Parts: sequence; C-alpha cells; structure tokens
Amino acid sequence: MSAPQDLTVAEFLGDGISAELSSAVHRVAAALPIGVAFEAVDLSLTRRRRDAEGAYQEAEAALRARGVALKYPTVTEKESPNKILRERLDFTVIHRPVASIPGVPTRFQGEVDLHIVRIAVGGTYEDAGRRIGREAAVSVRVIERRPSFQAASFAFALAAKLGCAVTSSSKYTIQRATDGLFEEVVSEVALAHPGIRHQLELFDALLAKLIMQPEAYRVVVTPNEYGDFLSDAACGLIGSLGLGASASYSFDDAGKVKLAMFDPAGGTAPDIAGKGVCNPAAALWAFAMLLEHTGNRGLGRALDQGVRDAIGAGHATRDLGGKLGTDAFTEAVIQSMHARLTGKLSSR
Ligand code: ATP
Repeated sequence: MSAPQDLTVAEFLGDGISAELSSAVHRVAAALPIGVAFEAVDLSLTRRRRDAEGAYQEAEAALRARGVALKYPTVTEKESPNKILRERLDFTVIHRPVASIPGVPTRFQGEVDLHIVRIAVGGTYEDAGRRIGREAAVSVRVIERRPSFQAASFAFALAAKLGCAVTSSSKYTIQRATDGLFEEVVSEVALAHPGIRHQLELFDALLAKLIMQPEAYRVVVTPNEYGDFLSDAACGLIGSLGLGASASYSFDDAGKVKLAMFDPAGGTAPDIAGKGVCNPAAALWAFAMLLEHTGNRGLGRALDQGVRDAIGAGHATRDLGGKLGTDAFTEAVIQSMHARLTGKLSSR
C-alpha cells in the first residue's frame, strides 16, 4: 500500500522538454518532508490531435478535483491550449513574480523583486479588430468590473502577505472610460484594505521609474496588455525571458481563489528535448509557487530560494553557460533546498 499523500497535484504534460521538467519536479517532490502525489493528464500534441476534447475534459476534471495544477509547455498547432484552459476554467488573473537571480548576467545592475498581477482577459487582446476599407482598422478594448475586482483583491491579499504597497498602473488619464473603470475598482478594493498603501502610476511613467528606482515597486496590478508588456520588460531587467513561472487563478463569488494553475515560462525547446540538458529552474519555481499557494509556505520559499542559491553558487545548465545536465542541476537544488530547510541558510 502506498503512503498517504498530503497534497495531490494535477499535472498537465505537454511536448518537447515537458517530460524532463516533470521528472525534475518529481525528484524535488520526493525530497520534501510532505507526501506529494501527481495526477497526470496528457496534453501533448499527439493526444490533442487524436482527441483534443477528451484531453481538455480530463484536464478540467483533474484541476477541479485537485484545486491546483502544474502545466508544462505545449505546442500550439491549431488551438492554444493555454487559451482553451483559461476559457474553460475561468482563469481571470495571472500572477507573475520577477526577481533578480544571483549569478545570471544582466545589463541592468539594480535589484528587482516584483510581483506582477495582471487581468488575464480583455484589454485589447479579445478583439483582433477589423479593417474599415483599405486605410483604417478598428478594434474594441474591454475592461470588466469582475476581473478587475479579482485582480485587485489578489494584489492586496498578496501585499498583505508581503508587507508592501500595491501600485496600480494603466493609462487612466487617456483611456478614461476603460482604464478609469479599472482604477475605480482598484480604489474600491483599496478602501477595504486600509492597512495597505495604494499608489497609482501611469503606465509609461512606471516603466521609466522601474528602471530608475526598482526597489520602489513590489506588487503591481494592471489590465491585461500592460501586464503582458511589464512582464517581459521586467524579465529583460533580470536577464532572461525564460527563467520564471506564473500562476493563473479563477475565483469564487466572494473573490477567493478557487482554482490555480502554475506553469514555467519558456517553450517546449524541441531542439534539446530528450537530451537531459534542459534547465528545470522555471518548472521548479512553478512548483514552489504551488507549494506556497497550498499552505506549504516554508517549503515553497525553501525551494524558490534553493533554485536561486544553486544558480548563485555556479551550478548551471548549458543555457546559463554551465555544464550540468537536468538531473545534476536538480540534485544541486535539492541540496540547497535542504540547507534552507535545516536553517543553514535563512529564508528571505
Ligand atoms: P515553442 O514553439 O514551444 O515556444 P521554441 O523552441 O520556439 O519552442 P523556446 O522553447 O522558448 O522556443 O526555446 C527557445 C530557445 O531557448 C531554444 O534554443 C531552446 O533550446 C532554449 N530553451 C528553452 N527552454 C529551455 C530550458 N528550459 N532549458 C534550456 N534551454 C531552453
């Protein structure tokens, strides 16, 4: 008989390096002091070509049953699996932490420790627009109260946990109706959190100030497209587009998180798939976010820091200029995580 599990995670397997990322996560999970079980769902292109509807139904059922999922990179052929999962599971908010990684070379010298909370729907992304004759085109931009409320509530709850202010950012002086509604909702949520400072920043100014004074920003909440731009800009500051993870959330009527899916940034890397050389850092950070979300905050922090410590100590896969394979790097992370857990190094 197998041992009782403390946590069961739905796991959406994809394409390319997906299987290697998953096995790195399993190795780390086996080294944790809690039992973690995984319920795998095959979302690979082969499966989706054969039975896309069945694959998505299975993924939806597993996530609804478990409450949390890890998703690995998938190839987009006809449909984008991320878009389909977002629609089926009503993911309305994306949380993308972006923090400087010791040992990763950057042109930018400042320290970044940012949590970008973004509405995952609407903005300019729902409507591809239409041409009006040869010379013009038009598209509709949508801001809704419900996802604005959910993003703001999530941002303030996160700021309460981190002990910091919330910055909301948009172009509310120009997009008066749309961004105006977003900022109105954020301000209403701010009133319900009198202990947390709320500052407004025009989005263009935020980009400049983030470079000049990165320590002034910790939790930033934005409409869809601004959050998208900000995420990549912040990744540029820390020297990598692929080294990070994000979480997608859906909410109940009271604004509490109902379902959460965590996924590494970066794609399927078909050129290195199956060679045992991919960097699992982003997948391990996604797992660390999942641990924190499920109430295992100390373990999540230790894993998050363990990955940073390992990279900072020079343990590096090829993409970071090192020689380690996926397994050897994962071992180094496990050692660093244990050092954090046993107090040999203190957590932030
Ligand atoms: P997709 O179409 O899924 O986005 P892609 O290869 O076009 O795949 P990425 O997967 O982002 O785009 O890969 C871009 C480059 O970065 C590739 O050379 C790939 O090998 C490398 N890469 C991506 N992820 C990793 C990783 N986890 N470890 C090491 N190298 C990676």
